[in-house]
Amino acid sequence: MRRGMVLGLLLALAGLVAVKAQPPAADAPKVIEVEKVKDNLYVLRGGGGNTAVFVTATGVVVVDAKNPGWGQPILDKIKTLTPKPVTMLINTHTHGDHVSGNVEFPATIDFVAQENTKANMEKMPIFKEHNGVGMTKRTFKDKMTLGKGADQIDLYYFGPGHTNGDAIVVFPALRTAHAGDLFQAKALPLVDGDNGGSVLHYPETLNKAYKGIKGVDTLINGHTPAKTTVADLKEIADFNQDFLTWAQAELKAGKTPAQAATEWKVPAKYTGYSSTVAPLFGGLEGRIKRLADEMKK
Ligand SMILES: [Zn+2]
Repeated sequence: MRRGMVLGLLLALAGLVAVKAQPPAADAPKVIEVEKVKDNLYVLRGGGGNTAVFVTATGVVVVDAKNPGWGQPILDKIKTLTPKPVTMLINTHTHGDHVSGNVEFPATIDFVAQENTKANMEKMPIFKEHNGVGMTKRTFKDKMTLGKGADQIDLYYFGPGHTNGDAIVVFPALRTAHAGDLFQAKALPLVDGDNGGSVLHYPETLNKAYKGIKGVDTLINGHTPAKTTVADLKEIADFNQDFLTWAQAELKAGKTPAQAATEWKVPAKYTGYSSTVAPLFGGLEGRIKRLADEMKK
């Protein structure tokens, strides 16, 4: 319980670091910035992970609901964009900076997530504290299509990475996808081992995503302040593969995760990548230790 709260707080802080925001005071106004991606698709930034708002013929589909207390500010902001009602909330994964606002959405709407993410969310205190409001109602395993034509949404799960339930949400008519924290930013990704994340399989999962989301050119990412492209998705897959190859060689050479962690640098060919490794989940040493554990299995 306490551990979950601490993790949630750390994730919230990581999100802030990722968007380079100033740490807000407790009573700071909840400011959401809107970027119009396409005619009927917006990104709402601030307060945790990036939220997508997709306006369909019959209602509004929201992807991710930010930190605790940010559900109502999301709903208020949507009212400035469209008079249509919110009908569905899709969560890309279980983390507190993406799902906590769920509990402020109307209990009657559809809540959708990958099946492992639902299982992970069921362990979170916030949903117990709100009598299950905001908990996932509909799940998928590998792929699910919702709606059709201009309103079609394709949900994909390509394997373990950031967690064991990372959904990529594709809006085919708009050639755009929300990649969640599987592609959080141009940096080494966070890997949440307690929620099934995998250092060993991360590059493979990203490559499957790159090949699997055909027809997409624009990406909304978990935390970046600007959109990225599918070319960036291929690059982050290569970046993670290069890190994996390097870390496996270090371990095979008999280095401990702590020793290896002092030696890693961003390879020169990756421009614009952060060399800062977030301290969450044990920082760089924790990632290499996670890999060592996975290689023993
Ligand atoms: Zn996350």
